[in-house]
Amino acid sequence: MAPLTLPRTIYDETHELFRGTVRRFLECEAVPEHDGWEHAGITPRSFWLRAGQEGLLCPHVPESYGGAGGDYRFLAVLGEELARAGITAANFAVHADICASYVLHYGSEAQKQRWLPAMVAGTALVSIAMTEPDTGSDLQAIRTVAERSADGYRLRGAKTFITGGANCDMCIVAARTGGIPGSKGISLFLVDAVLPGFQKGRSLQKLGLKGQDTAELVFDDVALPRDALLGEEGAGFKYLMGELPRERLAIAVLAVATSQRAFDLAVEYTRRRKAFGQRILDFQNTRFKLAEIQSDLLAAWCLLDRCIESHANGKLTVPQAAAAKLWTSELQCRVVDTCLQMFGGYGYMLEYPIARMYADARIQRIYGGTSEIMKEVVARAIDAGD
Ligand SMILES: Cc1cc2nc3c(=O)[nH]c(=O)nc-3n(C[C@H](O)[C@H](O)[C@H](O)COP(=O)(O)OP(=O)(O)OC[C@H]3O[C@@H](n4cnc5c(N)ncnc54)[C@H](O)[C@@H]3O)c2cc1C
Repeated sequence: MAPLTLPRTIYDETHELFRGTVRRFLECEAVPEHDGWEHAGITPRSFWLRAGQEGLLCPHVPESYGGAGGDYRFLAVLGEELARAGITAANFAVHADICASYVLHYGSEAQKQRWLPAMVAGTALVSIAMTEPDTGSDLQAIRTVAERSADGYRLRGAKTFITGGANCDMCIVAARTGGIPGSKGISLFLVDAVLPGFQKGRSLQKLGLKGQDTAELVFDDVALPRDALLGEEGAGFKYLMGELPRERLAIAVLAVATSQRAFDLAVEYTRRRKAFGQRILDFQNTRFKLAEIQSDLLAAWCLLDRCIESHANGKLTVPQAAAAKLWTSELQCRVVDTCLQMFGGYGYMLEYPIARMYADARIQRIYGGTSEIMKEVVARAIDAGD
């Protein structure tokens, strides 16, 4: 990290030891392979297995389910290190931070025993499916249905934009139950991908995040056992809202750490590259732009640290997480764009990381709730006097 940052006090020695392990692992196992994964449009399962063997997946899962029983900070370290190494292919945040947390927080003992050890080991990859072709931001309008049957439920519907959908062994699916409209009629199900009728559609071609598969999923009258229901019937929307701060904080971690990487790359490049007999870094425009980004980064790391600390103590609220996601993801797009400009034509070449970072950054303002929805959440809290 650049020298102008303030000391970070949220991590202790164990987090830093973990950081060292993650960094070494990514340098050896991910960085040399990343281009290949981007070409293939998917990260191989062998990488997930190696990450599992190294203890990097789901470090927050208790030891009784095969994890290390760490606090939230370990997940934040993981996110920071992935961004630092430029690894966007394997979405650990969806698998570990988001999906494992749903099972941990709302699953029965049998569900935890069945899925968590395999998720920690990387033998079961998990995705989450809320978005449908006709609705994303307006989650209450989903149409996928889970109708009660004699021995469980019949699941019918289609989901889209599902991160890790092509590779997944299980998917947490939001579906409508009991014929009840609105938020009270939404339930969550742990849907085993081997069940007949679980169809993985095409992997979608995207602007960025090329090494992550993003898939369409179809549930063609899938017979779900009763124990596929996660928590209580009709409580799905409440669970989704409960986990949103976590999901949005994971995006904020990525946003700040990626902005830092873009800044570091730009400093390094503008020190080397010359024009009109001087370094690009010697032009006042470059110096001022970098000074502005450095100041933004100073603020961003402070905000992030307070949010991580607050979340680790179970106190980060939905509007606070929304504000953090909004500000940091918008910052990331601005920073990456400004830094790319300093690379001139090379900034547009995909062999330069800054070009890929530009394409990768754009989604941060869309998934996990768009910037407009984040503003709605914050505005509602202002109106309510929170
Ligand atoms: C790469 C990628 C990965 C994803 N991964 C997943 C995943 O793993 N699981 C999953 O379930 N989903 C996933 N998504 C879906 C993502 O969360 C949605 O795309 C996002 O929530 C927006 O929904 P939408 O695309 O339907 O846009 P829409 O809801 O149709 O919105 C269109 C536009 O209208 C605006 N808008 C909508 N409502 C309002 C409002 N009330 N006020 C003001 N403006 C509004 C939006 O901000 C947006 O600009 C992923 C998407 C992508 C692209």
